[in-house]
Amino acid sequence: MNERQRGEDTALWPPVEPIKAGLKGRCPRCGEGKLFNGLLTVSPRCGVCRLDNSFADAGDGPAVFVILIIGFVVVGLALWMEVTHNPPLWVHFLLWIPLVVVLSLVALRLIKGVLITLQHANKAAEGRLDGQK
Ligand SMILES: [Zn+2]
Repeated sequence: MNERQRGEDTALWPPVEPIKAGLKGRCPRCGEGKLFNGLLTVSPRCGVCRLDNSFADAGDGPAVFVILIIGFVVVGLALWMEVTHNPPLWVHFLLWIPLVVVLSLVALRLIKGVLITLQHANKAAEGRLDGQK
């Protein structure tokens, strides 16, 4: 999609708050259609405005944020529990493994949605030389 087509987007669709739309998993252009087709799979097109989501490539970005944020929270909680209560090892496994799995999946979806909507709002794409499509 080139700059001209992006400009036409704003003429047809009112601006969408990218972080809000991303957290809700909504289309970055219309804010109504679903961005995801399943838990983490980006749908090929918006069901409402027919936006082609082939531009969407969050790459490793969401995973990095999830590792840093969830790792900080869960390791902090595990260390706090170990120091204050000194529970047996199985208690740590029972608590932290399910918590990490659930928090990571939820955070991955939220962060991936935000990164894709921000990518659309900021027209982020791979670098190109002048004259190339
Ligand atoms: Zn849409």
